[in-house]
Amino acid sequence: MLMTAADYRDSLRSLKPRVFVEGQRVESVADEPKLIPGINAVGVSYDLAQVAELKPIMTATQHSSGKTINRMMHIDQSGDDLLNKLEAVRFMCKISGCGQRYLTHDGFNGVYQATKLADDRHGTDYHQRFVAYMHDAQDRDLAIGIAMTDAKGDRSLKPSQQTNPDTYVHIKERRKDGIVISGTKAIVTGAAYMHEFLLMPCRTHTPEDADCAVCCAVPIDAEGVTVISRRAGRPGEAAAKFSAKYGQGTGVVQFADVFVPWDKVFMAGETEEAGYLTTSYASHHRQSCIGARAGFGDLLIGAGAHMYEANGLDADKHSHIREQMVELIKIVEGFFACGVASSVYCVKDTSGVAMPDPVFSNIGKLLLATQIYDMHKIAHYVSGGLIVALPGPDEDHNPETAASLSAVLGARADIPYQQRADVARFVEDLTVSDQAGWYSVMSLHGGGSPEAMKREIWRNYPVDEKKDLVSSLLDHGVLDMGQRVSKQPGRCCVTGCQVPELPGTDARTTKQLEAVEVR
Ligand SMILES: Cc1cc2nc3c(=O)[nH]c(=O)nc-3n(C[C@H](O)[C@H](O)[C@H](O)COP(=O)(O)OP(=O)(O)OC[C@H]3O[C@@H](n4cnc5c(N)ncnc54)[C@H](O)[C@@H]3O)c2cc1C
Repeated sequence: MLMTAADYRDSLRSLKPRVFVEGQRVESVADEPKLIPGINAVGVSYDLAQVAELKPIMTATQHSSGKTINRMMHIDQSGDDLLNKLEAVRFMCKISGCGQRYLTHDGFNGVYQATKLADDRHGTDYHQRFVAYMHDAQDRDLAIGIAMTDAKGDRSLKPSQQTNPDTYVHIKERRKDGIVISGTKAIVTGAAYMHEFLLMPCRTHTPEDADCAVCCAVPIDAEGVTVISRRAGRPGEAAAKFSAKYGQGTGVVQFADVFVPWDKVFMAGETEEAGYLTTSYASHHRQSCIGARAGFGDLLIGAGAHMYEANGLDADKHSHIREQMVELIKIVEGFFACGVASSVYCVKDTSGVAMPDPVFSNIGKLLLATQIYDMHKIAHYVSGGLIVALPGPDEDHNPETAASLSAVLGARADIPYQQRADVARFVEDLTVSDQAGWYSVMSLHGGGSPEAMKREIWRNYPVDEKKDLVSSLLDHGVLDMGQRVSKQPGRCCVTGCQVPELPGTDARTTKQLEAVEVR
């Protein structure tokens, strides 16, 4: 059953997790003010799936069950699916800043692929266990936190060389009925307000560290699980025009002797396939990050335009403002185009999952990771200093200053002062406040540090093909060129690929989707 945001919030009330926020034990996650912006943001993924016009992108038919599910839990079968997911994530994130639930999608697809590979190679039955778990989670429309990044300890050492073994989640005991795990996942998006965690390894492990090659599902309120969360957004701050409503709280999740029954264990020591899980997840997740940050870019483009207008400027007349806005558009649509390309050139493995082309997916994520700082700079450039200098919202109601401030701090005659002040605070919230730094670091490191992307680009890019190309030219083999078939995965024919239609919807572009009213 597809839940609404209200259902989701209610469903959290039936859980009894051990959660701390800012030094305090939380009695009811759903009612904790410090977490509400995060719960609101995840709620957007639920409510959008209820909007009739958005169903083609926000819901999907799960091929293995025939059921209609939230797209944030769907296994992709085609480039169309990947494009729809990309649009869905962008749409979700331009409303919520970061809709968070796309991590579930990325984790599901990675585990679906890797469990099939493990079974094919080792005769295990992980895949059917995972599919059963996934169908149940889809039926219950759960929010599932992706717990991948271990605490990792000394980065130069492997897990077995660490002084404290709990810097990595590892299997401590193998029993007849399941496994016992211990360790720490250091950064989990939305940890406090998830129903369950899907644990996955964060790196490729060597055979000595096979016990860290573990993938399993654990309910948030399982015995031995503790979530230590940050607050989400800027709850209760009047100046936080966006982040008082929407934000993201990450959490450290500690697992202390947590028992996991075998039917919830999807990998237990298969280091190679666990490595494949890590890289497959990364390709899915980096493509989702592209959609997410494009949604954030939509917010900055809109806010920048509001701000220069409120300042009395016209981008058609003032070329340096226009030039900066075009630069911002180029950045956002440039990395988004990599997301589109990674969908069109998707690759399929034996599991039948359509995986984003890893080269384009990693390039798009690398672009947004570094260009997020330029995005903020452009918003500052077109806005002016008011975004950091405007007196706080309390002054709006001060009988001694409010009238005179509004008389002199207005700019364009037909735009009221309050509107200029609101948009200045909106830009401040997203590009200057602690949330701005948060969006930057999330863009830089979320989904893997830039070095991880560079490694994947290098691993997957057909450099040898380019070498052969030049060799063939040097060998006078110019006429052979037309018969060459690219070795880059997904580039399967010399005629090139066609952009697939988005199925079942004429709402093809984000622009058109914007017109759809969101309840
Ligand atoms: C807002 C946010 C949300 C996130 N959400 C999630 C989530 O939901 N689930 C999840 O699992 N993870 C999540 N992450 C974690 C994210 O995947 C990691 O931040 C990322 O993989 C980098 O790991 P790290 O933070 O431990 O940094 P580090 O790995 O310590 O990297 C710091 C720097 O050191 C370098 N470095 C690290 N190790 C080595 C080495 N051995 N040799 C040489 N150089 C090295 C890196 O390249 C990088 O430049 C999130 C991160 C953020 C910021």
